[in-house]
Order: sequence, then C-alpha cells, then structure tokens
Amino acid sequence: MTDTPAHEDAVSRPAAQDWGDWRKQMARRITTLEQLRAWIDVTPEEEEAILRCKGRYRWSITQHYASLMDPHDPRCPIRLQAVPGLAELTPGPTATVDPVGDRVYRKTNRVIHKYPDRVVFLVTAVCPVYCRHCTRKFHTTDQQGTYFEEKEARSFEPDFAYIAAHPEIRDVLLTGGDPLVYPDEKIAFILENLRAIPHVEVIRIGSRFPVLMPDRITPELCRILEAHHPVWLNTHFNHPKEITPASAAACDRLLRHGVPVQNQSVLLKGVNDDIDTMRALVHGLLKIRVRPYYLYHCDDVVGVSHFMTSLEEGRAIMEQLTGFTTGFAVPQYVYTTDLGKIPASREVLHRDALGDVWVENYQGQKRNLGPVLR
Ligand code: SF4
Repeated sequence: MTDTPAHEDAVSRPAAQDWGDWRKQMARRITTLEQLRAWIDVTPEEEEAILRCKGRYRWSITQHYASLMDPHDPRCPIRLQAVPGLAELTPGPTATVDPVGDRVYRKTNRVIHKYPDRVVFLVTAVCPVYCRHCTRKFHTTDQQGTYFEEKEARSFEPDFAYIAAHPEIRDVLLTGGDPLVYPDEKIAFILENLRAIPHVEVIRIGSRFPVLMPDRITPELCRILEAHHPVWLNTHFNHPKEITPASAAACDRLLRHGVPVQNQSVLLKGVNDDIDTMRALVHGLLKIRVRPYYLYHCDDVVGVSHFMTSLEEGRAIMEQLTGFTTGFAVPQYVYTTDLGKIPASREVLHRDALGDVWVENYQGQKRNLGPVLR
C-alpha cells in the first residue's frame, strides 16, 4: 500500500502511486539537493549543510518520510530529523563517537556483548533514512567511520559461532543500520541460523522502516518473522506526525502476525522536547497498539549533541506524563552509558534519617510509609 503525501500543496512532488514497491522506493530515495527541492523549499542553511556534509555525513530520505515534511518550515520536526544541518559540523566539547561503548564490547565483526544474557547483532550499516540524531552516527552516517570498515560483506559465520559458543545469550537484538534493508531471503537466513542455536530464546529486530517506509513491512516479510517466533520488533517514532495511516497499517500487519511492536523514542531538542508533543506521541502510539517502551536521553555523540536537552527537561516531561495518563503509555526514561542503561526518572522513594520510607505521587503529595519497606 502507499501513503498520501501530507502536503499536497508543496512543490511538484512525485505522486504516491509512482513510488512503487519497497525495493523501488529504496532505489528512489532522495539523495541530491535537486531531488530534495521537489519536496521542500530548501533554505540557504540547509543547502550549505548538504554541501558541507558531502564526503563527511551520508544523507538519504525516503519519499514517504519526505511527504511528511512541512515544505515551508525549516523547523519542521521531520525535516530536523532527516535534512542535514550545519550544527552537525560543530560537535559539542564533550561529544564522542561512541559514548555507549559499542566498540568496547564488540566481540566479532557484528556482535556486541555488553549485558550478560543478550547481545546486539549489527547486521548492516545501511538505513532507509540517515537520521541526523543517530546514536550510531559513526557507524551509519559518517563516511569516515563504520564499525565494519571494509568488512560489511564478511561471512556471518563467526558471528553465529560466537553466539552459539555462549550459552548465556538468550536474547539477540538485530540492528545496525536497519536489518530490514536486506531482502527477505537474507532476513530468513539470519533468523534460521539464530533459531538453530538452542539457547537463543528471543529475537528482537530494531527497525525504523514502519516509520520511514511502511511499505517494507510486506505480508511476505511478516510471514518470515512469524515462522521464527518469538520475534519482537522495536521501532522508532519520535513525533506524532510520523503516525500515519501507512505506518499504522505496517504496525498492524506485524501485530497480526504475532510480532509485538514497541517504540523507542529519543528526546530531541526542537523535535519532541515538550509535553504536548510527547503526550500526543504516546497517545497516538497506543491508538495503533504500539507500546511506548523507552525514551532515550539523547546521547552526546559527535554530530548529534545539538539535539541534546538537559536531564532536568527530560525529567520534567516524564513528571507530566507519569500518573497523568495510562501507565503503559509512559516510556521508561533512560540515559545510555558504557555501563548500560541508567533509569533517568526522578527518584520518588526516599528513606529518611530515622529509616522511614517516604513516597511521593505524581501530584507531589508525600506520605510516610514508616518502616514498611525495610
Ligand atoms: S534508522 Fe536507526 S540506525 Fe538508521 S540512522 Fe536512523 S536511528 Fe540510526
């Protein structure tokens, strides 16, 4: 199925029916200034950023995602996530390429083993859209980087062998890049090899395709995922504008094939760092049966740090969600470090000097529970 462009009034955009199937959509991604001008009024700053990013940071935008852009507003939250910006070229003073320690815990070309019972399996460095805020910007977007160097095409055998040799690994997260850039046969190949390892209980896929190119979630792909259950999919909606009829239908196809869909947002300055946007996002996700799972504090990554808010701003948003809306609409706010994910929400259980436990509810009301939780 195809989606209807959100801004029909834009410049002469390609009609949705001309987009074709997902393979054609991948081939027709927007990768030049001239192509982008068919979708938005490119500002002088955006043009300069595109020119200066050449050779430094990759960019590409799917037609579906471009159709969500406001053609006249450079502060559009979709544009900010997809069109290169000049701020990417002046990293913050404390920014690093790998603040979460992927390279520290990397055991093979593709496997990162950071937590005891689960691994990250970086199957590719390619994405349908190169999000300007990507935590793995060094790997996905930086033309001078990537963890694979020249080894992306290398055999997967050493990666499967590592997982097979570690019986403590019960959970494998396929990510990248976006694993669903691969053809169905290759996805089936990876899933079959993982399912052949008896101690792998759960397979998770991290994919932004439901947001960026919903047509990729075909019935054939869903049948492949279903044949290898339990398979979960974590996707990445950051703004309510991204919840479209096409993205809702893609999530529905996954759910009807038994694939639970959860959402991992990143708190991004200028995109979703206000309570009204965040509330609309989590409520919109519940309406399409996608559970808000994590809200990541934006990592201090080279080329990304201009998207960072303060921790206090993130906590303020969480405090305006918690208790004020459905419990499972509230994601867990986390800060990722090389030590793992750290819960970042405010502590609401305190023990006083006498050893009594105090709790505080969402409205700030406090109660002494005495020593009950000792
Ligand atoms: S789709 Fe995911 S991995 Fe790819 S650039 Fe965007 S955030 Fe990074």
